[in-house]
Amino acid sequence: MDPKAILAEAKALQPELLEARRDLHQHPELGFDLVYTKPFVKSRLEAMGYEVEEVGKAGLVCYAGKEGGKTVLIRGDMDALPINEETDVEFRSLTPGKMHACGHDMHTSMMLGAAKLLKKHESELKGRVKLEFQPAEETFQGSRDMIEAGLLDGVDAAMMIHVAAALPMPSGCIIVPRGGISMASCEQYHITVRGKGGHGSTPHVAIDPITAAAHIHLALQEINSREINGHDFGVFTTCHFEAGKTSNVIPETAEMWGTIRTVDPTNQMGAFIKERMEDIVSGVATALRCQAKVEFYDFCPTVVIDDEVSKLSLPIMQELLGPAAIDYDAPPANGSEDFAFVSHKVPTIAMYLTAGDYREGYTYAAHNPKTRFDDSYLFVGTAAYTYFAARYLEKCVQ
Ligand SMILES: [Zn+2]
Ligand SMILES: [Zn+2]
Repeated sequence: MDPKAILAEAKALQPELLEARRDLHQHPELGFDLVYTKPFVKSRLEAMGYEVEEVGKAGLVCYAGKEGGKTVLIRGDMDALPINEETDVEFRSLTPGKMHACGHDMHTSMMLGAAKLLKKHESELKGRVKLEFQPAEETFQGSRDMIEAGLLDGVDAAMMIHVAAALPMPSGCIIVPRGGISMASCEQYHITVRGKGGHGSTPHVAIDPITAAAHIHLALQEINSREINGHDFGVFTTCHFEAGKTSNVIPETAEMWGTIRTVDPTNQMGAFIKERMEDIVSGVATALRCQAKVEFYDFCPTVVIDDEVSKLSLPIMQELLGPAAIDYDAPPANGSEDFAFVSHKVPTIAMYLTAGDYREGYTYAAHNPKTRFDDSYLFVGTAAYTYFAARYLEKCVQ
């Protein structure tokens, strides 16, 4: 397959890639609840001539190429975040409280472009490409759900792309990580502190859970600052703190939700953080006459890049993009990605597409209400998905 031709054909698709991305951006949906997005994707794939399978609660899968050789999986995720968009782009979210702030609208559009090119070049494929459109990445449930429904049956290798904004790098580069852990594991926590509600004027006859929760919040910081070796990576952050409804009522409970990130392959760091959180939460609550509990949920492991697939991927991307394909030798990212579940089952590469140069005003990274992505290089993502899949299959038969 000719890389120059693929890049040119992808570039010719740029107007329709933009149209799809911006349409999806206006219609963000959460988790498995993709009533606009899923039919949007399915109907476009069917119009290209694909037979589309529904996999799991809201996933879609289709194939290009032929059986008999290897099968390579490429993935785009489709879900958005519960964030109120604060950008001034003309195609901003039409749904208050929901926003494509992680760029999954870009991924879906790039994958639709790849579907078109792979269909066009289907007879040249030396095996089979499995195209995956995944829901519920942000809740770390979609990948697992699709795997349980058979996503990886017969799959020999897997690849995904995530867009990255607010980097000091030009847009349109593909970053290829080396073998090893490339993204942190993640586990969410929920702390409930129970006191005794009452009148704001008489705290002495109530038990104030807000004060106790505030002490717990501060005490937990000691784990980060005093108990973890500065050379080791272990992060946790409370991102959601909720208590009370009005100014003169002491509530019954205060609640906190947060996230734990580690990059330890045996997850000893995660186990340590969880054990110390439990000690501190119950100890501080007891000292302040409250009861408290911590629950842990939605675990997602580290993303593991396969060394061999990484070593194959870099030259493939260099054939396509020259110096815009970047050999990335860096410590794991703090962020997590539920393609991790795939990476623990089949050899995987998870690349990044740079999409927003910090120096050109793209100053907000993903998950910020002001995040903007530079969508002028969607075609690079489409070309990367297409060319990686085709060339990977070629290299397998060489
Ligand atoms: Zn995200
Ligand atoms: Zn994401």
